[in-house]
Amino acid sequence: VTQAVAPERKALNLLSLLGDAARRTQTPIKTLYPYFNLPGMLSLAAGQPHPDTFAIRSLTVTVPSLDDDGPAEVPLTIPFEPATGATPAEASVAVTRSMQYGTTRGITGYQAFARAHTAALHHPPYADWDVIATVGNTDGLAKCLGLIGSGGDSLLLDEWTYPAAVDTATSHNISTVPIRMDRDGMCPTDLERVLTTWPADRSRPKMMYLVPTGQNPTGVTMPIERRRAIYALAQRFNVMIFEDDPYYYLQYAAYQPPTERRTPLTAGDQPGLSGLIPSFLALDVDGRVIRLDSFSKTLGPGFRTGWLTASKQFLPYIEYHHETTTQQPAGPAQAIVTELLTRHWGHDGFARYLRRLQHGYYERRNRFLDTVGRHLDGLVDYVVPDAGMFVWFRLRLPAGVTGADDQPMQSLLQGLVAAKVIAIPGYLFAGQIDRAARSNEPYLRAAFSITNPDDFEPAVERLAGVLRAMGCGSG
Ligand code: PMP
Ligand code: PLP
Repeated sequence: VTQAVAPERKALNLLSLLGDAARRTQTPIKTLYPYFNLPGMLSLAAGQPHPDTFAIRSLTVTVPSLDDDGPAEVPLTIPFEPATGATPAEASVAVTRSMQYGTTRGITGYQAFARAHTAALHHPPYADWDVIATVGNTDGLAKCLGLIGSGGDSLLLDEWTYPAAVDTATSHNISTVPIRMDRDGMCPTDLERVLTTWPADRSRPKMMYLVPTGQNPTGVTMPIERRRAIYALAQRFNVMIFEDDPYYYLQYAAYQPPTERRTPLTAGDQPGLSGLIPSFLALDVDGRVIRLDSFSKTLGPGFRTGWLTASKQFLPYIEYHHETTTQQPAGPAQAIVTELLTRHWGHDGFARYLRRLQHGYYERRNRFLDTVGRHLDGLVDYVVPDAGMFVWFRLRLPAGVTGADDQPMQSLLQGLVAAKVIAIPGYLFAGQIDRAARSNEPYLRAAFSITNPDDFEPAVERLAGVLRAMGCGSG
């Protein structure tokens, strides 16, 4: 764990950007929380059930072992009561604590992990930031839009993006503003064009949504220079950045064609926690980035745990939002994740676990693209992903097929279903108005994460058959 000197710089006061959340306040009972734990206090206050009534006495799960020579799995146990002498962070994991109501920032140990990990990994370049537990990045994004957004606002985003972001915006009556992408992600030139030519009679966009690493759906990882250029524009136009980065930990070594792959790589050649690209949070001198981290792609989506990092001025409003919705991730999930990543694995163990995970994705990506190289040559174009789980194909449809009356992507989908191979047509990743307008654009997202690698061959062969039947590569 690298220790950086804490920066003295404070975040800019950006509270003028608050949207609907400006109306939120603390729920009245929670205002009395500080009194509950005073020494000698007898509580007749909160409607907290007594721990004896919790239907869990202890938690034992098996987790993967990091010892290559030992058993594949080892147990991890969480006791009912904290051990004597446990620190507050350690004590918070025990069943009596993690299963109880608490502050809506997460149990103490979970917050402590997220805070220390964020400091070690991103070194946010301003002093007054903090973290709050979320129920994953879907939840985190909904909280961000509820924080800065209000009905009638606009959200800047990639022209192809994660559909839940578009749908969450729509539900808040926030319109999405698609910005052109190239092989490095969002184009600063197009962002600047949109912001400098913004109509005078519409309120200016004050939020941007980005998936900077292994982007969903394009698989693109935005290079550092591009991150700097986008951040500089956000500063110039006073825009908040919502950095949704669930694939951050799924960065892996570059692709080499099979003929050039001489010495096979091992897990030790993958980045772990030390070779990861700097995040937007790492560039954020102003406190205008709200970073969303999720355990969904590292420990499992069903944990429903993640955390959000932001300037301290914004966090109370998110806490108030949690008080009226999710409160915090489920107790057993927080307890298991905290115990696993702090006392069981620690930072170094987590890094070792991630190297294995990254290596698994590296091998999947290689094997999938090797197969694509054999069967889809001349039928599609794509950019090789070095993070995440997606390849974004641009189909070489013959010119005639893209005519206005044709529905080539509908036929493609039907063809794929009939051939028993499914991937997601590109237009499903377009913004609100664009889903219809761009429904004929020849893109297809393939995920190489779930299929057994032995099935890559038949899957890609079937895809090739459907594309050829549509005339791909012949025009
Ligand atoms: N509704 C009412 C009427 C309550 O009394 C409480 C708990 N005090 C809640 C909701 C919160 O419930 P939950 O823990 O299921 O979110
Ligand atoms: N954000 C992006 C860009 C995703 O691709 C996904 C998962 O598909 C999510 C968020 C959902 O993350 P979580 O499980 O943390 O809510």
